[in-house]
Amino acid sequence: MSGQIPRQFIDDLLARTDIVELIDQRVPLKKAGRNYAACCPFHSEKSPSFTVSPDKQFYHCFGCGAHGNAISFMMEFEQLEFVEAIEELAQQHHVEVPREQGVGRARPAVQADDYNLMQQASEFYQQQLQQHPNAGSVQQYVSQRGLSAKTLNDFGIGYAPDGWDNLLKRLSPTNNRQLRDQLVELRLINRNDNGREYDFFRERLMFPIRDKRGRVIAFGGRVLGDGTPKYLNSPESRLFQKGRELYGLYEARQQPGHLEQVLVVEGYMDVVALAEQDIRFAVACLGTATTSDHMHALFRFTPKVVCCYDGDRAGRDAAWRALQSALPQLKDGVELNFVFLPDGEDPDSLVQKEGKAAFLQRISAATPLNQYFFEHLIQEFDPSTDGGKSALSVKASELIKQIPSEFYRESLTDKLANLLGKPRERTKATVSRASNRVKSSAMKITPMRRAIGLLLQNPNIVKVMPNAPELADANIPGIGLLLTLQQRLQQEPSLTTAQLLEQWRDLPEHSILMTLAAWDHQIDPEQLCQEFVDTFHSIEDQYLQQRLEALERKDKLQQLSKAEWHEYKLLLQALKSKKPRLAN
Ligand SMILES: [Zn+2]
Repeated sequence: MSGQIPRQFIDDLLARTDIVELIDQRVPLKKAGRNYAACCPFHSEKSPSFTVSPDKQFYHCFGCGAHGNAISFMMEFEQLEFVEAIEELAQQHHVEVPREQGVGRARPAVQADDYNLMQQASEFYQQQLQQHPNAGSVQQYVSQRGLSAKTLNDFGIGYAPDGWDNLLKRLSPTNNRQLRDQLVELRLINRNDNGREYDFFRERLMFPIRDKRGRVIAFGGRVLGDGTPKYLNSPESRLFQKGRELYGLYEARQQPGHLEQVLVVEGYMDVVALAEQDIRFAVACLGTATTSDHMHALFRFTPKVVCCYDGDRAGRDAAWRALQSALPQLKDGVELNFVFLPDGEDPDSLVQKEGKAAFLQRISAATPLNQYFFEHLIQEFDPSTDGGKSALSVKASELIKQIPSEFYRESLTDKLANLLGKPRERTKATVSRASNRVKSSAMKITPMRRAIGLLLQNPNIVKVMPNAPELADANIPGIGLLLTLQQRLQQEPSLTTAQLLEQWRDLPEHSILMTLAAWDHQIDPEQLCQEFVDTFHSIEDQYLQQRLEALERKDKLQQLSKAEWHEYKLLLQALKSKKPRLAN
């Protein structure tokens, strides 16, 4: 049941999948030379810079740099986890995903009917809201909170009745041990130390938490009276990880048209109350601060995120944490704003009090990131003193460097220079010193990168690649990767670019391989083999030169052996004649 997905299966799946067809179903493509093009689905643009290569089975956007194979596309476009993307592709080809036995895994595998059980639980709660003897008083409570039947239905809201085993009896009428274990694992049922089992949620208004595909993965329960805790969420399970999920995102995406903006609020009552006022673009984090994963997911679906918090201390802290987790996700073309509500108000109470128009007015008057960024920092560091200035400079630079968008980096740097009363260029230098660890998008193409890139993009070049196992000793970054690529391709010459990339997905080299797969080398297809061989020879030269220098160093310290002298002479000859062949 559990276990890794075999490598071979993933290779086959990629071989069966045509990336052009896969993407075309979601983003209509136009033929453009050897490739296909479209406006990029991952950033907003007017002229197409998103290309799909049928040969490489790879997509690349020249605008935002998004790139990858069919699996990456599914992960990015459909917001799926790796395993989910594989499952989705397998389903399209009507094949089952096999699992290897006995390999350690960080998370237990999802069982086939997990989602079904969660759905059954959700339906049970919804039914109880209509049929339970207490339904009348619960419905009364719900309508006091201003929720209509339509909203209840859109969000699948239900009622967990009082009592210890309502859900337990419904889902597992006979004492089937395996099923009961599963319900405990899904956190629908608690089991105490004495082995006694009982419903996790009792006497609560129930909000199903759905994943990006609309499947119920957990629940939130709000107490009906004055009991505590007021809000109770399902604990994490193999289906539910708090830091990744956003309540209401699936529902917001069901609205027609593009999501122009998303409002991040604190609780699910806020999301639902706003939907009731026809503000259908709110989402809530589930018992955690806003994480970088949340921001990443949001900016995939919308160019504009507005974070809405209480104006009190806790709200301000939450907003600042949200800002920090958003910085690495700030690409050009996205917008992040902040709204602070009057003390003691939440979106639920406020929208009921002042109505839709006034609430929307608050959202459109939100504080932009650039402004909030310094408002907050100035409270912490006083820019009228030298000490405050230097601390502010250090802290701000550290934050600014995390931003991928050049626009935001520049505009924040300008503001920082203003605040510090320093020339802009000097501030810029401080920030860029802080950001020298952040990789630049313009990559220098060394001979090694050229060789790896060409081979990766045109795997059949392996036929003209010389066998030079001695190069494994060379002190040239990337040589191991180049030789491994050669070895893989010699074992399996039919591998495509996409399949090769897949073999490195979780390894440190993956990101450079992705970049090289997307590198636009502009070499005439006729010249490719020659270009590759020339590049390879220049790498060999580099190795011979290293070897020669090593022998020269040794010669100064001790006498070279006869064999070493012989090698030295051959090396000199080889490098002179520019025909580097190391004769043994
Ligand atoms: Zn793009």
